[in-house]
Amino acid sequence: MSASIAELPLTRLDEADPELLEELLVVTRQVAEAGAFTLGEHVEGFEADFAGYCDAAEAIGVSSGTSALELALRALGIGAGDEVVVPANSFIATAEAVSAVGATPRFADVDAGSLLLTAETVAAVLTPRVRCIIPVHLYGATVELEPILALAREHGAFVVEDACQAHGARLDGRRVGGLGNAGAFSFYPSKNLGAWGDGGAVVTNDPEVAERVRLLRSHGQPARYQHTIIGTTARLDGLQAALLRTKLRSLDVRTARRRRLGAELRQVLAGMPIELPEAVRSGGDHVHHLFVVRTDSRDALRAHLARDGIQTGLHYPTPLHLTEAYAHLGLRPGALPVVEHAADRVCSLPMFPAMTSGDIDRVAESVSTFDTAREAVAAVG
Ligand SMILES: *Cc1c(COP(=O)(O)O)cnc(C)c1O
Repeated sequence: MSASIAELPLTRLDEADPELLEELLVVTRQVAEAGAFTLGEHVEGFEADFAGYCDAAEAIGVSSGTSALELALRALGIGAGDEVVVPANSFIATAEAVSAVGATPRFADVDAGSLLLTAETVAAVLTPRVRCIIPVHLYGATVELEPILALAREHGAFVVEDACQAHGARLDGRRVGGLGNAGAFSFYPSKNLGAWGDGGAVVTNDPEVAERVRLLRSHGQPARYQHTIIGTTARLDGLQAALLRTKLRSLDVRTARRRRLGAELRQVLAGMPIELPEAVRSGGDHVHHLFVVRTDSRDALRAHLARDGIQTGLHYPTPLHLTEAYAHLGLRPGALPVVEHAADRVCSLPMFPAMTSGDIDRVAESVSTFDTAREAVAAVG
């Protein structure tokens, strides 16, 4: 394709929506003029709105999705000697939070169709030391939580949802994040609800967990220079809270757009030599943070799309148990076969609310000529 055609990126941020951008710039000026940078009304206002949005009693703004997971675990009393079940096909933050509190991740495999954690894959790695399970609503698709919650109750373990990719997704009609003991959200700029920097939130219906997270994020101080527990600095910035509060009002519109784009992509890619994301199961949801296809010729597909100016991503190329960071746990290739097989086959296609039907057609056209391209690559190789 000619070089004059602009690249189709994997994602676009707020600059893709000029009206929203203007609104956010006004908010930025207001926060700057008031000097309302730390905690205060913007953070409290956003927390109330976000808790309401998630159908949860409380939301606590924190500095990132990683710190949301970490503080939720600390608030639940997870620490040294404990194990926490984590799917091996997540962003590494899910495991890092476990390590940060001094506990050890127990990496689990996932369902081959959905690529999500299930009660069966959790049960396969349960030990007496497991005190918590972290299901990840990966790519924006909902984990079937009920059987995992039942297993956790039976085992005496907590459940912390990693909802960092699934803002607003519904499971049997209820928003994710508030369905277990706590839920963690990330507002990293490219997430479905993104700030202009880092941010996150813990959502919970447990007032004690909420109180502890509130203390932990700000030096364990219920009042200035009164320190009741040892905390840290992990607050959501006032500026980010004000921006997020504004963007939350139109999140469902952008999510509906993602769902529609996901359906369009499925339609135009049907019958092509790639595996599409599994259809949403009854009672589940998919808010399409990412649109991930699978193929045995993944690297050839990426090269082919790149030649047509289409960016792709890998979520995630290395299973967590095979990263250098977690080599000390001693898990070898073959330990978690579904995750390992998927890691070599996944390819994320462009997905963002400002994507157009023209963009969709462009992806479809490129993929439709992929088979030939793969043969060409195979001939050269
Ligand atoms: C983004 C993400 C995180 C971490 O969020 P940060 O805000 O980047 O710290 C954790 N888990 C998952 C599944 C994520 O996608």
